Amino acid sequence: MRYVSVLRGDSPIQYVKGVGPVLAEQFASLGLRTVGDLLNYFPFRHEAEAVETDIEHLRLGQRATIRGEIIKMRTSRGGARTCTVHDGTDICILRWFNTNYMDRRIAVGAIVIASGKIEEFNGRAMIVHPTVQVFPPDSVVMSPQQRGRRQLGVYRGSSAIKSQTIRKAVLRVLDQPHLPVEDITPPELVRKHGLLTREAAVRGMHTPRNDDQFEQARTRLAYDEFLLMELAIALRRRKTVSLEEGRMLHVTAEIDKRIRARFPFQLTPSQNAVIKEISRDLQSGRPMTRLLQGDVGSGKTVVALHASLAAIANGRQAAIMAPTEILAQQHFDKIEKYLGGSKVKFALLSGKQPKKQRDQALADIQSGKISLVVGTQALIQKGVAFADLAMITVDEQHKFGVVQRATFRTKGPTPHYLVMTATPIPRTLSMTVFGDLDVSIIKRCPPGRGKVTTRVVSVQKWDVVAGYVRERLERGEQAFVVCPVIGEKEKATRHEGGSAARGVPLTSVKETYDKLTSGPWRGLSVALLHGAMRPADKRAIMDDFAAGKTHALVATTVVEVGVDVANATIMIVEHAERYGLSQLHQLRGRIGRGGKDSLCVLIAHGRGEKAAERLDVIANTTDGFKIAEADLALRGPGELLGTRQHGLPELRVGDIVNDFALLAKARSDAFEIVGNDPQLRRPQHERMIPALKRMFGDKLALIDAA
Ligand code: ADP
Ligand code: MG
Repeated sequence: MRYVSVLRGDSPIQYVKGVGPVLAEQFASLGLRTVGDLLNYFPFRHEAEAVETDIEHLRLGQRATIRGEIIKMRTSRGGARTCTVHDGTDICILRWFNTNYMDRRIAVGAIVIASGKIEEFNGRAMIVHPTVQVFPPDSVVMSPQQRGRRQLGVYRGSSAIKSQTIRKAVLRVLDQPHLPVEDITPPELVRKHGLLTREAAVRGMHTPRNDDQFEQARTRLAYDEFLLMELAIALRRRKTVSLEEGRMLHVTAEIDKRIRARFPFQLTPSQNAVIKEISRDLQSGRPMTRLLQGDVGSGKTVVALHASLAAIANGRQAAIMAPTEILAQQHFDKIEKYLGGSKVKFALLSGKQPKKQRDQALADIQSGKISLVVGTQALIQKGVAFADLAMITVDEQHKFGVVQRATFRTKGPTPHYLVMTATPIPRTLSMTVFGDLDVSIIKRCPPGRGKVTTRVVSVQKWDVVAGYVRERLERGEQAFVVCPVIGEKEKATRHEGGSAARGVPLTSVKETYDKLTSGPWRGLSVALLHGAMRPADKRAIMDDFAAGKTHALVATTVVEVGVDVANATIMIVEHAERYGLSQLHQLRGRIGRGGKDSLCVLIAHGRGEKAAERLDVIANTTDGFKIAEADLALRGPGELLGTRQHGLPELRVGDIVNDFALLAKARSDAFEIVGNDPQLRRPQHERMIPALKRMFGDKLALIDAA
C-alpha cells in the first residue's frame, strides 16, 4: 500500500485516500490531475451537511443520516451484503445488492455515517444502498452537530464521475491540517484589505459554515484573480509605455493653428480636450497607446486627422486604417475635402487599385513622398514599407475587444498609436481588456444634430409602421431597414444553429424587400444591400442612397459600419430582440446625423421578458456608456467581447461587473507592485510570474519583458 503522509499541491490525485487509478482517470477527464487541481475545483452550490438522527427515532419512509459502529456483516445467498450498525440507541441494517457500490473499508468495527431512505426489514430500520462515509475502528468522529454544521459542495461532475465522488475526495484533502495552497498575494495586502488567508478561503469555498464565510472566501479568491490579471496588464503597459522609445513630435501652437484652419468648423470642447491629451503624448518621447471612444458622429476622425497632421508637420508619416474598404474610402473622401489645396500628399490603398497605380503608391510611401496613407488594416499591415511612420490610427468602428496592436515594417522607434471605437466601453472593461491603454472620451457630438426618438414595436404592428414610414419617405426622408439574414438558404442554416430566436422564423432581407416593394412601399425606390454582394455593387448602391436617389435601403447589418448619410432619418430594425444593446445603439447611430429629427423603430418578434427589458434600455437612453454597462450586466463580458479573442483570462471566481470595487483595488495594488518592482524579482513577488504563466498560458507572450 502506498503511503503519503502529506499531500502536496502537485501530488497526483491518486494519492488522495479513496481515489485509485480508475477513479483518477475519471478525475482527469474533468481536468483534475493533482491535489491542487482538486482544491481549486470549486462547487457551483452548497447544501447543508445532513443532521444525524438517533436510530431509535428513525421514521419509515423518510431520508435520514445515522452514525454508528458496524457490529455484524453477512453475505446472503443471493450475494447481497448486510451490515448491522449500532449507535447506542438501537440498530439499523445497511444493505447492498450490488457490492460494487460498497466502500471496501466497511468492516466490523468501522464507524460509518450513512444516509438514505429508511425502510423496514424484520422489524428493523434498513437503508438500501446508503451513501456512506467510513472511518477506521475507534476513530473519534464528531457529528455535524458537534463540530458546527458545514455546508458541503455540490460539484459539476460528468457521466463518469459524480458530484458525491468529487466531494468525498475534496473532504479527504480538507482533513489535512494544512492545505497545500499557494499564496501569491503579499501579506501586507491581505492585511490591508482584511482578507482571509488563501488557505482559509479555499476551505471556505468548499465547506463554508455560512453564507457570510463563503462570501469572504470568494472575495479573497476573486481578489487574487484580479490581482494576477492586473499584474499582467501593468507589465504589458510598462513594457509599451516605459521601455520603448517613442518618436518625439512637436505640436507647437503654430502647427496646431495651421491644422485647425483645415476644418470648416470650430472643434467642440470635447474634441479639444482629447487633442490636448494626444498632443501631450506625442511630445512625451514615449509611444502613445491611446483608446479614443466616442459615439458615431462625435468627431473622432477629425481628432485622428489632427494627430496625423501633427506627425506630418514634423516631417514624418501617418497611417489611418479602417475595418472595411467602404470605410477607408469614406475616410479618404473626408480627408480629401479637408486637405484640398494643402501640400500634404496622401493616398488611398485599395484592393481594387490597378497594380501599376498601387506599386507607385507603395514606392512613394517607401520613399516618403506620400505622408498620409489611408486603407484597410489588412492592406496597410501587409507588407507596406514606410520611410518614417510615426502615427497610426486604427478605426475599429463597432468592433471591440480586439485591440491588437498592428505590427509594421518600420525602422526606429515605436510609432504612436490611436485606436478609435464607437462602442462605448464600460469602465469595468477599460480596466481589464483595455487596461494597458490610456483612454480618451469624446462626450458630446458636435452641435446641430436632430433628436432621435426610439420606439419598440411588436411585429403585429408592422403594417402600421410601414404605412407611417411611407408618408415620411414621400416627404423626402430616407430609411434603413435592417434584417438579420440575407435570404432563404442562410435563413435555414442560421435557424438550426441559432440559439437566439428559437422557434421564431427570421425575416430575411430578400423577403422584407419583396414584402415592402409589393405592398406598403410599392412605387418607391427601394434598394437591397448585403454583405454577399460584390464590393462594386455595394458601393454603387451606397452612393445612390447617399445622393438621395433611393428612398430606402433594406440591408443586413453591413449598414452598421460606415454609411454616413445625413438625410437618413429612419431606422427600422427587424428582430431587434436578436441584437446586443451596443449593436442596436450602433445601428441607431446611422441616423440622426443631420439636423432633422429621426425615428428608430425596433421591431420585436416573439416575446420574452428579458428581451423586452433590454429593448426598453435602448429606447430610454441615448447614452452609449449606460447602454454598454447594461449590456455588460445582461450578457456578460464574454458575449460582449466575443469569447475567443477578447484576451480576458477566464475568471473562475471574480466577476468584473459585480466585484467592480474589488477589481479597482486589485488594479491599483498591481500597478503599485509593478511600479516598485518592474521585473517582479523581489522575494515576496517571485511566485507571481509562474502564477501569471499558469493563468494566461500562451497569451502571456505579452509579459516576456518581465
Ligand atoms: P466619427 O468618426 O466619430 O464617427 P466624424 O469625425 O466622422 O465622427 O464626424 C462626423 C461628422 O461631424 C462629420 O461629417 C464631420 O465633418 C462633422 N464634425 C466633426 N467635428 C465637428 C465639429 N466640431 N463641428 C461640426 N461638425 C463636425
Ligand atoms: Mg467615423
